[in-house]
Amino acid sequence: MPIATVNPATGETLRTFDPLGPGEIDQCLADAAHAFAAFRTTGFAQRSALLNRAADLLEGDLDDIARTMTIEMGKPLAAARAEAAKCVKAMRWYATHAESLLADERPADADVRDSGASAVRAHYRPLGVVLAVMPWNFPLWQVVRFAAPALMAGNVGLLKHASNVPQTALYLGELFERAGYPHGCFQTLLIGSDAVEAVLRDGRVAAATLTGSEPAGRAVASVAGSEVKKTVLELGGSDPFVVMPSADIERAASTAVVARVQNNGQSCIAAKRFIVHADVYDEFAERFTAGMAALTVGDPLQETTDVGPLATERGRADLEELVDDAVGRGASVLCGGRRPPGHDQGWFYEPTVLAGITEDMRIDQEETFGPVATLYRVADLDAAVERANHTPFGLSSNVWTRDEAEVDRFVRDLQAGGVYVNGMTASHPALPFGGVKRSGYGRELSGHGIREFCNVTTVWQA
Ligand code: NDP
Repeated sequence: MPIATVNPATGETLRTFDPLGPGEIDQCLADAAHAFAAFRTTGFAQRSALLNRAADLLEGDLDDIARTMTIEMGKPLAAARAEAAKCVKAMRWYATHAESLLADERPADADVRDSGASAVRAHYRPLGVVLAVMPWNFPLWQVVRFAAPALMAGNVGLLKHASNVPQTALYLGELFERAGYPHGCFQTLLIGSDAVEAVLRDGRVAAATLTGSEPAGRAVASVAGSEVKKTVLELGGSDPFVVMPSADIERAASTAVVARVQNNGQSCIAAKRFIVHADVYDEFAERFTAGMAALTVGDPLQETTDVGPLATERGRADLEELVDDAVGRGASVLCGGRRPPGHDQGWFYEPTVLAGITEDMRIDQEETFGPVATLYRVADLDAAVERANHTPFGLSSNVWTRDEAEVDRFVRDLQAGGVYVNGMTASHPALPFGGVKRSGYGRELSGHGIREFCNVTTVWQA
């Protein structure tokens, strides 16, 4: 994939970039290793001051960087602003809490008396240079979600961003430099995915984190595995949104619309499969379909737009293939199912609801990365749980019920990294984020996220 800004609303190539050559990549690796040698010894007060400064700068740049994101990947401008604001919040959160999240842990004296120690503690030290391979869908947030905790832990970062968001990628590298981080602490590498393996195998790189597709995750984890380097993977999702009879159906249906089309439907934690109890299926389907059909599709720079274009031509083609396959095998289209009339340029697709999904349809098992929802009718709680788990993915889940026994059952049995009750999945700095099954492993955010790239050191003193 060429490294370029191509406006998805028009298809126009606005800027192209040359990838770094081997010599330049080597210099970045040397700078990162050099920076880590000193940065690892800094204290939390210094790291907090730097991260707070980066947050302040980002806050000041908010409108500009939001516009850049919208132009590079097509999310509505209001969503881009909200993403940047969320990054500011997460930076400040880690600047405030990292020290306590990484405080030494001391087991109770009675538990370790027989070890012969007079003092014992688990102490968190940084791992080193961490390579972050990141996607275009939340081009600022995905990176900050990694960078804020990693830098607060004393690690340094190398960013290999998606090739279609180079200006956002370069902005991030500059942001940390402007904030006063020593050169080499956070660098953007403009490289294609073919250059990732060599960087990851380099002895100066300690670990990697990847957010993106399963094939990309598999490739990076294989290389890291052969080098015995730690990885965190945040891959795709096909989150269930289960609606039971006791739910507030009106609220469930209106939330379902937002949960499905946020970020033009291109979110790993978007609700994608809507699993509805037969008693309330018709009412939910009617309200949900009406909500989806009422959305305004159009220019993401317009404040009135709800759903912009898909980020890439390939992404729209993949989505169309999934819908066409389902319809060809008998799925019914309750709304959408086509490119919106009047949008000859750009990679737009109508918000779509499909019903009558069967197991021979690809869409039953594959992720729909765009504004397409599938509806399933289930007879009871057992069937809802079974249907929700009938997917290779396990990122998050949403359940709507006012029955506490049902809540307990979902929390016990849903195979996912999150269970959101009577609301939609959303990440928050204080809450762990990540999945099971083919959605990946490891956690981001919260104390769990910051400890992923730490050397948990046992300190034993006689
Ligand atoms: P990719 O997974 O291909 O891209 C994500 C990142 O991984 C990019 O930086 C990409 O670089 C890099 N990458 C891709 N292949 C490799 C590789 N073999 N080795 C090392 N790095 C690699 O996502 P796409 O943009 O192609 O989207 C395809 C699908 O991925 C979507 O339809 C969706 O299902 C899923 N996805 C999930 C996301 C999530 O949030 N979990 C985010 C984005 C996509 P480059 O851009 O240079 O190829």
